[in-house]
Amino acid sequence: MSTAAADFFSPWMTSLESQWASLFEGRNEALVTLLLMFISHEVIYFGRCIPYWIADIMPSMQKYKIQQKTIQNTSQNQWKVFRYVLMSHFLFELPMIVGFHPVAVYFGMAISNVPFPSLSKMILQTFLFFVFEDFFHYWAHRALHYGAFYKHIHKWHHEWSAPFGLTAEYAHPIEVLVLGMGTIGGPLLWCYFTHDLHLITTMVWMTLRLFQAVEAHSGYDFPWSTHNWLPFWSGSEHHDYHHMAFTNNFSTSFRWWDHIFGTNKKYLAYKQRQKQERSDKIAKKTL
Ligand SMILES: [Zn+2]
Ligand SMILES: [Zn+2]
Repeated sequence: MSTAAADFFSPWMTSLESQWASLFEGRNEALVTLLLMFISHEVIYFGRCIPYWIADIMPSMQKYKIQQKTIQNTSQNQWKVFRYVLMSHFLFELPMIVGFHPVAVYFGMAISNVPFPSLSKMILQTFLFFVFEDFFHYWAHRALHYGAFYKHIHKWHHEWSAPFGLTAEYAHPIEVLVLGMGTIGGPLLWCYFTHDLHLITTMVWMTLRLFQAVEAHSGYDFPWSTHNWLPFWSGSEHHDYHHMAFTNNFSTSFRWWDHIFGTNKKYLAYKQRQKQERSDKIAKKTL
């Protein structure tokens, strides 16, 4: 990171560091970590869903909906998914977060310490966690599409063939546990081998991972959606096809594994057909 950028962020970091230190000072570190992680998860997950929920009730936004024929983002479904996801957060994710602190400390993660790591280190580590999670998720997700795994576990998530933001974490508890390993496994492994990771970096990573998951399930492909300016990013348009077709596009963040392992062929053929249909329509109009 350039010196100018580091200078720009420096006052923000200093202020955040002093707030972080006072948050932990004189308090039980495990309890503060638990509350911090659980509350931030709720605020970020549901907060990230709000713009998509607003888009759902705006007629002018419907032209950006990826699937125009299958409509599942009704108020009734939104309410059903909201209740299930909230229950799942308390019953399944909260115990995982409770177990996080002792494991993180055992693996050598810095928790309440300040100063924070440098921004460039945080960016590099976060990128590595994205790569690790994407690879882990790709194979775990493919495994979840086999026989009994699909029938008894992953089918829950595939109830939504035209997903909407809230459905990102609508899944069987075993799936939550298995795929959650991809999210937390990267930081823990990194910590185990390097003893050089701070909780703040882990939280930045988890925030971005939640942003990615909700966007991928949003059902919208806006001109400003991430994959439109970052071509190797999977995004909503990539994962929406997976929900629509129940096959192909198994990765979370990047398109490269599906490309390398040939699990994007049906998706690419579908995109080609769509392109052809659009150009046929234009040709008919100009005749
Ligand atoms: Zn799937
Ligand atoms: Zn999904």
